[in-house]
Amino acid sequence: MLFILALNGLSHPEKARRGNVFGIMGMTVAVLATVLTVISNNYWVLAIGIGVGGTIGLLLALRVKMTQMPELIAILHSLVGAAAAIIGFANYLDPGTLLHFSGSSLLVHDLETCLGIFIGAVTCTGSVIAYGKLSAHISGKPLTLPARHFLNLLLFAVALWAGIAFVIAHNPASSPHAIAATGGIFPPLPGMPGGTVALCVMTAMALLFGIHLVLAIGGADMPVVVSMLNSYSGWAAAATGFMLGNDLLIVTGALVGSSGAILSYIMCRAMNRNFLAVIAGGFGTGGSHPVTAEEHHGEVMSVKPEEVAELLNQATSIVIIPGYGMAVAHAQHTVAAITKTLREKGKTVRFAIHPVAGRMPGHMNVLLAEANVPYDIVFEMDAINDDFPKVDVAMVIGANDIVNPAALTDPNSPIAGMPVIKCWNSTIAVVMKRSMATGYAGVDNPLFYRENTRMFFGDAQKSLDEVYRLLTA
Ligand code: NDP
Repeated sequence: MLFILALNGLSHPEKARRGNVFGIMGMTVAVLATVLTVISNNYWVLAIGIGVGGTIGLLLALRVKMTQMPELIAILHSLVGAAAAIIGFANYLDPGTLLHFSGSSLLVHDLETCLGIFIGAVTCTGSVIAYGKLSAHISGKPLTLPARHFLNLLLFAVALWAGIAFVIAHNPASSPHAIAATGGIFPPLPGMPGGTVALCVMTAMALLFGIHLVLAIGGADMPVVVSMLNSYSGWAAAATGFMLGNDLLIVTGALVGSSGAILSYIMCRAMNRNFLAVIAGGFGTGGSHPVTAEEHHGEVMSVKPEEVAELLNQATSIVIIPGYGMAVAHAQHTVAAITKTLREKGKTVRFAIHPVAGRMPGHMNVLLAEANVPYDIVFEMDAINDDFPKVDVAMVIGANDIVNPAALTDPNSPIAGMPVIKCWNSTIAVVMKRSMATGYAGVDNPLFYRENTRMFFGDAQKSLDEVYRLLTA
């Protein structure tokens, strides 16, 4: 109940804090209940585990910068996956398993073990690669090996086969003939329960599958990957819940799994991508590189802070479009101060939020809420996109891919078909960024060369500070 209330609270920034409190309460109850139901005289082992894990978690959470949040989430998913796989192995090696289960109940239990370990291992390595890509330790370029779909299929087929061989070899009721037919090449290990080698082979295939799956996905599809791995971590936990007979883990895992799946769907719709096409990979080139004006045969018109302040002073309707650069520059507080000043001058100021702006779902909403921007002037892309012809100034603050008109006009663009914020339909679009570099998807942006676009070069924080000073002078 508390976890459901937490999810419900997180659906709106106004209720998000309350949702978090419900989540914390739910998790505290869950941990206490789990500890109290463990009949053990080794409580000190639990205490050390909770103490060390809790301290590492606390330090990480205190130190992480807001822009590193998606990386942290990705690496935490990998821990959930690793935990599911390790619990699967521990459960399998526990001699009590063969005492408690037999016949069909052992079969079901072994299937749960296989599933928990498989999803856990895929989540673990997939999330480590996602962490590497998000933190730029690994190139954002998709790894498109020849016959990569065949490779995926092969890994999956071998994992399936090894899984079946494990289930048959682990069941004492299986005939030697069935064991030899399915797992003839997996030798039994002395002193270990049946099927150990097959289970290890299945795990190795799952680990490789996770690596290859995420390596093949290009920079532009990373939002979907992060939410997909979130979903997988939930399913891994749910499978572990079935394996351990732990109802709470089943319910919590299913909640995370299904909400992650819904989020992946929303992300796919926001980017006009087909989920299967994303998983198949190979889209988006990743990595930003500078683009010269000559490459575009276009002129760029740059402006100074004085001109931006003048444009804002003369406008009556202003829309601010924040992107990843606002997060990097920590400019949200100055943006909020400028918004307040402009509203006090009687101007209509609104925000347009793209579903994949920044580096995690809801990134911009969180930053604006932190800076106390009123919620009623913050609009989702679809709610405001048609209004741009009536807007005097559109201020793009550190955004790039989400305002790229090529997505709509160039069918060959890697982001073709992705809905974008149509800021170019306003009278003037001011684009604030440091250089002509591309954004996350590594795609050139023709917006910068349009007649009604003004490039305002510089760090968003410093540039906006200057504009604020001029507006309030
Ligand atoms: P982009 O990455 O497209 O562009 C951000 C721009 O900000 C850059 O072009 C950069 O240009 C500029 N910038 C960086 N630092 C500063 C600074 N200090 N001051 C001013 N400008 C700065 O971001 P968008 O928000 O437009 O788009 C999000 C992208 O991230 C999409 O491609 C999306 O698919 C992807 N993504 C989104 C996730 C999500 O869940 N939201 C997750 C993973 C990826 P310059 O270097 O010239 O300053």
